[in-house]
Amino acid sequence: MDVIYFDNNATTKVADEVAEAMQPFFCGLYGNPSSMHTFGGQVGHDIKKAREQVANLLSCDPSEIIFTSCGTESDNTAIRSALAACPDRRKIVTSRVEHPAVLTTCRELEIHGYNIVEIPVDGTGRLEMDQFEDALDDDTAVVTIMYANNETGTVFPIEKIAQMVSDKGIIFHTDAVQVIGKIPLDLSKIPIDMLSISGHKLHAPKGVGVLYVRKGTRLLPFMQGGHQESGRRAGTENVPGIVGLGKACELAGQNIEEENNQVKQLRDKLENAILKTCPECIVNGDIENRLPNTSNISFKYIEGEAILLMLDKFGICASSGSACTSGSLEPSHVLRAMGVPFTAAHGSIRFSLSRYNIEKEVDITIEKLPEIVNRLRELSPFVKK
Ligand code: PLP
Repeated sequence: MDVIYFDNNATTKVADEVAEAMQPFFCGLYGNPSSMHTFGGQVGHDIKKAREQVANLLSCDPSEIIFTSCGTESDNTAIRSALAACPDRRKIVTSRVEHPAVLTTCRELEIHGYNIVEIPVDGTGRLEMDQFEDALDDDTAVVTIMYANNETGTVFPIEKIAQMVSDKGIIFHTDAVQVIGKIPLDLSKIPIDMLSISGHKLHAPKGVGVLYVRKGTRLLPFMQGGHQESGRRAGTENVPGIVGLGKACELAGQNIEEENNQVKQLRDKLENAILKTCPECIVNGDIENRLPNTSNISFKYIEGEAILLMLDKFGICASSGSACTSGSLEPSHVLRAMGVPFTAAHGSIRFSLSRYNIEKEVDITIEKLPEIVNRLRELSPFVKK
C-alpha cells in the first residue's frame, strides 16, 4: 500500500538531492573537519558551503549560523544563553502555545526562580498583543515567541513583535522550526536576535539544526567541550547532516513561493472538501495568517485517535491534537489555550502537506474521510440518535 503522507509538521521526507549530497560524507569523506591533515580539513570546506547555503536562505551572514543537533537544542541554547547574558534580569516572556522545547524549558527554569510570563492567545490562536506589550519590562531577560505554530499553522506577527522587543532593548528569540522553507524570511530586515531551525522539518535529515545568532548578541555555549563552531557549540560536527541541511536550504530557496502556492492549493482543496462533506467540523487556527501547508480540523463528537487509526488503514498519515497522558486522552495545550471546546478539541486532526504531495492523494483522502467520520459518529455516545 502506498503511503499518503500528510504529517510533514512532524517530520519530512529527505529530498533525493539532499540524500545524494550527503552520501560522500559517510564512507568516503569521513575525516574530522578539525584534523590537521588535508583529508579531514577538506570537509571543513563543505561545512563552510552549507553555512553559506543556510545564510542565503535567511539573508544573514554565514558567521551568524551555528549548527546544532536539532530544534530543541537550538531553543534551549537560545533561552539559557540569554539568561546567562543578563544575570540581573529574572523574567522570560513566552506564549502559552509554544512547542514543549520552549515551554518545558521555561517551566523548568521557573523551578529555579525565574518569572515566566506565558502570553495567552484568542480563540483563533492569535497572540494577545496588549498583554504582550504590558509584559515587557526592565526585568525581562529574553522574549521567546514562536514564528508559527506547529499544530494549527497560525503565524504570529513576528516583525511587529521583534520590533517591540528590540525597542525595549530585550533579547528576542523565535522558534522558526515550522517556518523555514514555507515562508520567505529576511533576517536583514527583522530585528530577531536568535532563531531556531530544525533540519528534519524541511527535507533534511533528523539530528541537525541551526541556531542563528545575530552579530553582537552574546552567546554563552550550552555545552562545554571542543572549539567547534567557533567555540559556540562543542562536539564533532555532524558533517553529513550539515551538508544535507545546506542543500535542503538551497532547494527551499529556489522556488519557495511557487511551491508553497501549490501546497496551499492542495491544502485548501482538502480542507474545503472536508468542511463540505463532513458536518460539524471546524478549522482551528488563524485562517488569514496560517502556514500554507497546515490544516487543523476538529471533527466534533468523535476522537481524533479513532479517525487516525481508520485513516491509517488506507495508508493515510496525519496526526491528532491529543496526547495520551496517564491512560486518558488530553487535548493539546495549544487547543486548550485557544479555548476550543472539549467535544471539538478531542476530535482534532492535523493535516500537514509538503511539496511532495500530489492531487490524487488529496482526492483519495476526500473520498475516504466522510465514510470514516459517519461511521465513528454512529458509534459516538455524544451524538443524539
Ligand atoms: N519547535 C517546533 C515549533 C517544532 O514543531 C518542533 C518539532 O516538532 C521543535 C521545536 C523541535 O524540533 P526537533 O525535533 O528538531 O528537536
